[in-house]
Amino acid sequence: MTTAHINTATHLGDSPVVIDIQGLNKWYGQFHVLKDINLQIRQQEKVVICGPSGSGKSTLIRTINRLEEHQEGSIVVDGAPLTNDVKQIERVRREVGMVFQQFNLFPHMTILDNVISGPIHVRNMPRKQAVDLAHSYLERVGIAEQANKFPGQLSGGQQQRVAIARALAMQPKIMLFDEPTSALDPEMIKEVLDVMRELAEQGMTMICVTHEMGFAREVADTMVFMDKGQIVEYAPVKEFFTAPKEERSRMFLEQIL
Ligand code: ADP
Ligand code: MG
Repeated sequence: MTTAHINTATHLGDSPVVIDIQGLNKWYGQFHVLKDINLQIRQQEKVVICGPSGSGKSTLIRTINRLEEHQEGSIVVDGAPLTNDVKQIERVRREVGMVFQQFNLFPHMTILDNVISGPIHVRNMPRKQAVDLAHSYLERVGIAEQANKFPGQLSGGQQQRVAIARALAMQPKIMLFDEPTSALDPEMIKEVLDVMRELAEQGMTMICVTHEMGFAREVADTMVFMDKGQIVEYAPVKEFFTAPKEERSRMFLEQIL
């Protein structure tokens, strides 16, 4: 289980590895939740992680910005090793944006204030500049005219697009998405996937946990299938959908396609 999973897709050329996970093991108490994970992700690579509920997908991506601690192995993000060194953790969090299933917007703050708070408080950006930046990102996700509303006044799809704008306003090098469309009504899923697709086209390095296999086929370079805390299959997207090697990933695809 020591295979290093590194994408060799030709269009990624020899772009540098920006996330390097080696021999990662994590436990919740006695429960071994991540088992011998090795994964290397290149700049501009799009990775889609899928797998049954409880397989450790959220835990894995949460370890990448240290929302969760790991016990064994190493995680290096954009050159910074994740240890208890707070400076390194802060550095990684500035470079890594995250979007959650439940949006996690601040409910008592306007859309605009949600988007400017990171740049002002974490990046020390002057307010005027943060506001201009926020407007440009809100425009990019198609929410410009809602800037003065509160999250509760927006639909789920709109709130999720705001959450994406908020993450982008920190100008991250890497974006992590944890089932960003799973809490949305079907008619809102597309508007969020469209924003993610556009971001991918602009060259963002992305890790997406999602079961939207249409999106995955179109956008992913690499597919990762997890089960019971392990990476069971790691494959270029075309190979994963046409000829999955592992029985477990085959069965999973049959169920959801
Ligand atoms: P997935 O995102 O693939 O559904 P998770 O990473 O959320 O999986 O969870 C993997 C396993 O770890 C599940 O069995 C879950 O119940 C367990 N788990 C998740 N978070 C915690 C926690 N904070 N404490 C203890 N167990 C947890
Ligand atoms: Mg999850």
